[in-house]
Amino acid sequence: MLLGAPGTGKGTQAERLEQDLGLTHVASGDLFRGHAQQRTPLGLQAAAYMRGGDLVPDEVTVAMLRERLQQADARAGVVLDGFPRTLAQAEALDMMMGALARRIAGVLYLDVPDEELVTRLAGRLVCRECQAPFHLQANPFATCPYQKCQGEHLYRRDDDNPATVRARLATFHERTEPLIRYYRDRSLLVTIRGSGTLADVTAATLGAARSLASAALGPA
Ligand code: AMP
Repeated sequence: MLLGAPGTGKGTQAERLEQDLGLTHVASGDLFRGHAQQRTPLGLQAAAYMRGGDLVPDEVTVAMLRERLQQADARAGVVLDGFPRTLAQAEALDMMMGALARRIAGVLYLDVPDEELVTRLAGRLVCRECQAPFHLQANPFATCPYQKCQGEHLYRRDDDNPATVRARLATFHERTEPLIRYYRDRSLLVTIRGSGTLADVTAATLGAARSLASAALGPA
């Protein structure tokens, strides 16, 4: 699981973990945006919360994730990005894991100061087709990670404007930050300094994820 405020690099690191460890990237924000784009009832409901930088209600979010985690491609292991975001979601995830006879191998907390996040989100671009995130200065589009496009699908997310970014950061501190303690108390938390260069953060994340994965595969 990747835990961190908006803009800490969860999506970028999740892409690397997917490629490197053969995990399936499950991002709750991407699932909501997919529903919103297709104008499903769930998407229309979620869009109102997303626009304001608020969280979508727990029951709706948990039901969506429960369905996603039961799909075939989740069996070999997933990297969770953006879920859980509240204590109620974390508790619901524990129940789901129990029911699926799975467990959380570890939680990588990407720690980045707020001031840096505001700048990062202002320059963020995301691919509409594969959701890969880029940044105008720090991580400009060079090649498509999936060799599918030339960058023609890049766009700026509606909620990456300064007012919504501030609301999303406040929501993180109030609702999601308590999860740091929740997972630390369960000895699952690894803190990664997320404010270094992309290469440093990626090396630290992959190193931590590889040791968590080998511990998870070893004797219980
Ligand atoms: P993200 O792409 O992770 O930044 O998520 C974008 C938006 O989707 C958030 O600001 C929320 O409105 C909504 N969202 C994503 N994940 C969750 C979650 N676990 N719980 C509630 N709302 C979520």
